[in-house]
Amino acid sequence: MARAASPYSSKGGSVYHVFSDCSAGKSIKRSLKVSGKGNKKLCGACKDIKAGKRTR
Ligand SMILES: [Zn+2]
Repeated sequence: MARAASPYSSKGGSVYHVFSDCSAGKSIKRSLKVSGKGNKKLCGACKDIKAGKRTR
């Protein structure tokens, strides 16, 4: 079961993530990771995780 995290995104990215298991979110370098949604859209993978279509 995917764990929800507080929203985070990549500096300069166009989407934000809400799951720490998200494969796209996981690939964000620690130095580029910022917390918050910013003015961004929810990541497609996170959307699918939320809908139960995938786990990461
Ligand atoms: Zn994501």
